[in-house]
Amino acid sequence: MAGIYIHIPFCKQKCTYCDFHFSTNTSYYQRMVNAMCIELKERNEELRNYPLESVYFGGGTPSILPDQLTGQIFGAIRQNFDLSQIKEITLEANPDDITAEKVQLWKSLGVNRLSIGIQSFDEVDLRWMNRAHTPEQSLNSIRTAQENGISNLTIDLMYGLPEMSPERWKKQIQTAIDTGVQHISAYCLTVEERTALYKKVQREELIPSDQELQSEHFDLLINTLTENGFLHYEISNFGKPGFLAVHNSNYWKGQHYLGIGPSAHSFDGVSRTWNVSNNLTYMKELENGVAPYEREVLTAGNQFNELLLTGLRTMWGVDLKKLGEILEISEEFNSKVKYYCEKNWMTREGTIIYLTSDGKHYADAIAEDLFEI
Ligand code: SF4
Repeated sequence: MAGIYIHIPFCKQKCTYCDFHFSTNTSYYQRMVNAMCIELKERNEELRNYPLESVYFGGGTPSILPDQLTGQIFGAIRQNFDLSQIKEITLEANPDDITAEKVQLWKSLGVNRLSIGIQSFDEVDLRWMNRAHTPEQSLNSIRTAQENGISNLTIDLMYGLPEMSPERWKKQIQTAIDTGVQHISAYCLTVEERTALYKKVQREELIPSDQELQSEHFDLLINTLTENGFLHYEISNFGKPGFLAVHNSNYWKGQHYLGIGPSAHSFDGVSRTWNVSNNLTYMKELENGVAPYEREVLTAGNQFNELLLTGLRTMWGVDLKKLGEILEISEEFNSKVKYYCEKNWMTREGTIIYLTSDGKHYADAIAEDLFEI
């Protein structure tokens, strides 16, 4: 099974916390889409032997593309790949871009899942985040998508925000549940260097929540969503049964994916490629017949660590048998697993290890501690 990720590297405006690759100069949409279509054609062989199950339009902001250009990308995908086994086509959209006409167009192209970047239902958060929408637009956008037949909706939310009390976060979660969406991705705010937020924090204009409060938010999130029928299937992801993200789940399970567009990454089971994170260079390279990416063949150590890092974040856990096929499992590794199980941060069923609710607070640190190389 395999997936395609399409990175649309444009945004209306720059959110203060964001360090993704995008440009607010939208004067060269057409040239960029032409370059992406060349890349789709040039790299179609890479997924030749793997049935395509998912396509994911991320960014940036895919929903700001003019209709005709979104259609052009879909045309190139259909021309170059076999979509007969496709299960999920997701498009990320911001609330201010969602109209009934847009939803109808996306549906007619094959989109069956929308991911709406809500981030917060509170005006006070949206303003310092420099989001381009209001809470009212957020709620309207969800309703518009639902009324126009999108029955698989996911929204993004953020917690650990400045001055966010547990009560205020709980209200946000409840608002999300009340909308009737089938899936919620919730991320703890991180302050990345090279962002406007970083500067605001340096100048003490904003004070992020401390770790203890972030932990409390995380527990509230897990408890409230699981009590309301959502499965906590990955650290940041919750879905109603039957609505777990196909694309992301395949990624976490180590399936192949092809990333198209500036800064997009690809994985073919043994090597990883990453496209240049510069729009102009990306377009020029494709126009001149140059591959816009670098490639790295993963060592056994890399593969071992990656399986551990992604697997421990999911409800499927990590199969020690699979890890052992990549690298021999050391005594030290086994004793660390025993230690985490005794601490009640991890459980083991047969050859599978999982994190407990307590352990999920430290998922990345535990994985790193278990890295073999
Ligand atoms: S819309 Fe999304 S990708 Fe664009 S700046 Fe905001 S968070 Fe980043």
